[in-house]
Amino acid sequence: MILDGKALAATLTTKLGKAIAQWTKAGRRPPGLAVFLVGDDLPSQIYVARKQKACLEVGIYVEVYRLPAATQQNDLLEAVARCNASDAIDGILIQMPLPHHIDAARIIAAVDPKKDVDGFHPENMGRLLLGSDEGFVPCTPLGIQKILQENKIPLAGQHVVIVGRSNIVGKPLAALLMQKKEGANATVTVLHSASKHSHEIMQTADILVAAIGSPEFIQSHHVKEGATIIDVGINRIQDTSAKGGYRLVGDVAFSEVAPRCHAITPVPGGVGPMTIAMLLNNTALSYKGNFRLDMEV
Ligand code: NDP
Repeated sequence: MILDGKALAATLTTKLGKAIAQWTKAGRRPPGLAVFLVGDDLPSQIYVARKQKACLEVGIYVEVYRLPAATQQNDLLEAVARCNASDAIDGILIQMPLPHHIDAARIIAAVDPKKDVDGFHPENMGRLLLGSDEGFVPCTPLGIQKILQENKIPLAGQHVVIVGRSNIVGKPLAALLMQKKEGANATVTVLHSASKHSHEIMQTADILVAAIGSPEFIQSHHVKEGATIIDVGINRIQDTSAKGGYRLVGDVAFSEVAPRCHAITPVPGGVGPMTIAMLLNNTALSYKGNFRLDMEV
C-alpha cells in the first residue's frame, strides 16, 4: 500500500479552506501566519514558497519576512516580538537553518508559545513530553501520526523504530507515539549515528521511520517483511537519466523496499505535504484559540 500523503493533505486542506471561507464570510479576519526566512539557503526558499502558496490556497493570511543573511539577532528578536503582539498573526514560523551568528534556540524561545505553530518552543516540547493535552506538536511528527491513523495502521503495542534523533523529527515523534493515549501507545526505539546493532534493531520494527538525511540509506535487508515504512528524508541527488538535473529521493531505497513491506510513504508525495497540512491546521487551531494537541479544525 502506498501511503499517499499528498492526497490526504489535499483532503484535509480542502476541509480547512471551507472552514476559513465560512469564518471570513461571517465577517471575521482570516487566520494569519508570519514566516521568517533569514539568508539565501535554496532549500529553505523552496520550503517557504510552498508554505506561502499552501496558506494562500486555503485562505490563510501570510506575511513572509525575507531577511538578509547579515541580519542581526536583536533585529530578528524585535521583528518576532512585533508578530507576537500583532492581532493579525496567529502563528509564527522561523525557517531553519538560521545563519550561524544567530542563536536559533534564543529565537525559538522568543516566539509566544501560543503562536508557536511549529511546536519547537521549549514550553510546547515540554508539554508534549509530559503528555499534556495542550500545546502545539511539531508538524512533521503530527503529519506522520495522521498518515498512520487515517490508513488504519495500528500503533498500540507496535514496535516503532525511528532512525534519527533530531529536535524537529525524531525526538518529538518518539514522544508523540509513546503517549499513553489512543492513536499512540507504541513501543518506541530511537536510533542515531552512535547506535550499535542498528541493522538488527531495524529488522524488528513493525513501523520503521527514516529521518536521517541520507539518500536511500534504508535497504530491503533492514526491513522486516510486512512492516510499514515512513520515509521522512528529502535528498536532492544528481539525476543520471537523460533528463539530467536533480531529483528528490528519500532515506529509503523505495523500489527495493516497497515489495517487502505492508505500506510505505513515497518521496515526494508522502510526509512532506502532510507537514505543510499540519502547519495550516495548527495555525487555524491557534486562531480559534484551540490550544490543544492532535485536533483537526
Ligand atoms: P538532522 O541532520 O537534524 O538529523 C539526522 C539524524 O540522523 C541525526 O540524529 C543523526 O544522528 C541520524 N543519523 C545520521 N546518520 C545515521 C546513521 N548512519 N545511522 C543512524 N542514524 C543516523 O536531520 P533532520 O531530522 O532535520 O532531517 C532528516 C531528513 O528529513 C532530511 O532529509 C530532511 O530534509 C528531512 N525532513 C523532511 C521533512 C518533511 O516534511 N518531509 C521535515 C523535516 C526534515 P546523530 O544525532 O548521532 O548525528
